[in-house]
Amino acid sequence: MYLLDTYARFDFGFERGNGATLFDKKGRDYIDFASGIGVNSLGHANKSIVKAIKEQSQKILHSSNLYAIKPQEKLAKAISKELGFKAFSFFCNSGAEANECAIKLARKYGATNFKEKKFEIITLKNSFHGRTLATLKLTGQDKFHPEIYAPYIEGFKFYDGIDEIIKNINEKTVAVMIELVQGEGGINALDKSEVKRLAKVLKEKKLLFITDEVQCGVYRTGEFVTSKLYGIKPDIITFAKGLGAGVPIGACACRHSVFAPGDHGSTFGGNFLATSTALAVLSELKKIKKSGKLDETIEIFNENLDALCSKFPQIFDKKEGLGLMLGLSLKDEIDISKLINLANKNRVLILKSGVKTLRFLPSLNIKKSEIKEGFKRLTKAISEYKI
Ligand code: PLP
Repeated sequence: MYLLDTYARFDFGFERGNGATLFDKKGRDYIDFASGIGVNSLGHANKSIVKAIKEQSQKILHSSNLYAIKPQEKLAKAISKELGFKAFSFFCNSGAEANECAIKLARKYGATNFKEKKFEIITLKNSFHGRTLATLKLTGQDKFHPEIYAPYIEGFKFYDGIDEIIKNINEKTVAVMIELVQGEGGINALDKSEVKRLAKVLKEKKLLFITDEVQCGVYRTGEFVTSKLYGIKPDIITFAKGLGAGVPIGACACRHSVFAPGDHGSTFGGNFLATSTALAVLSELKKIKKSGKLDETIEIFNENLDALCSKFPQIFDKKEGLGLMLGLSLKDEIDISKLINLANKNRVLILKSGVKTLRFLPSLNIKKSEIKEGFKRLTKAISEYKI
């Protein structure tokens, strides 16, 4: 093995996929309720995405950001249109990079819009914002700030709950960044009225509201952005995961045109391949949403989770989340690793979130037959759990 030891991986030997089904080298099928941690928004080998990638690769993959890139401009316009308000986008390759861009935007805004420089960004306890040194420190969980990697970048604070955030806004604060549905720290959908209250406070103080929609954005919860479900218009929204349906792309969309040439950049970010693929992804997802299929899938998936939760009251506590970003929290005594191993054995892929939540992030176009088969396998897996 020549890999650095960063993941404890399951070795399924996946070779190909079709929709929400993966196949190993022996041709065995696995129902995929994980979609590469919310990345494969259109499942595997989606025909429109394959076509977009093929066509673009036959023309030009990359030119660098030194030259204008048409699909990048189109994608920025498409994002603004989907948001329903004017936004300026920067494209990168991952969620952490999108959040790094948000940090820089906020810092420049804080340095240029007030008499006294403002730079501090507040996040929520249990949040997750990435693995770079800055986004690790931005992440509101002490376990992500081990002394081994210190010193970290300063200027980030985190608090337990929106009320605490509001109380701790001070003269140094420039922005608050939150995930409207926390994805890694347990599936926690924030309270709508609390979020609106925070938006109001920030607006009054001319401070920035940043929503990290890396996991919960791009139709994952039923709308292009979860902020729409919450009735807010953030100043900055970050995206990644589902935007490229498997082709790496991150985006940071901002209502304020803060940067000037030289302020930020990326070699690969927003290249022809990534942005033309993301355009095809958005067009497909929009069709699924408009046809009513997305809302129908959300309903069916939720009904199945509710049924599973009621069938095993000794295992599950409650269902959490929104749209197709869902979790089942477990009773304290239940061993989550054992449950995931049983699901693996029964060939249905599910995820863990936090310490006590099973997480479900199926592709947004998952078929009814795949949902049915996946829950059949999951029911069998859970029946095999010995308390
Ligand atoms: N923000 C959120 C909410 C995430 O869920 C993640 C990844 O799980 C990130 C940021 C980091 O994204 P990436 O792994 O693409 O850098």
